[in-house]
Amino acid sequence: MAKCPVCGASLDWRDLIEQMLTLENAEDIFKDREEFLGKLKEFTFKCPVCGEEFLGKYLPMDEAEKVFELLNDFKGSIDWDNRKVRIRLNQLLALDKMLEEWDRRVKNVGHK
Ligand SMILES: [Zn+2]
Repeated sequence: MAKCPVCGASLDWRDLIEQMLTLENAEDIFKDREEFLGKLKEFTFKCPVCGEEFLGKYLPMDEAEKVFELLNDFKGSIDWDNRKVRIRLNQLLALDKMLEEWDRRVKNVGHK
């Protein structure tokens, strides 16, 4: 899970992404994978817990890639009028990880 590199608090991807929605031409950025990841790495996020700022490159990139997929898979995941994320990204990421783990276990059992 994403954590603040300064205070170590768990961060909500929905909150992080909403900070990025303030970017000009965010709508285009969120459609292009490379563009999105590049912008995320150099974006200055603010931790809601300690108030310190940090760069997006300190966030787990595998999760950032999943977040991009989730946002694009779910139609209407972003409310562009109000600049809000409509889906619960952390819960979906957790579910995704659980399914991967389950998949791996099933495959391991199959090999025995
Ligand atoms: Zn913090």
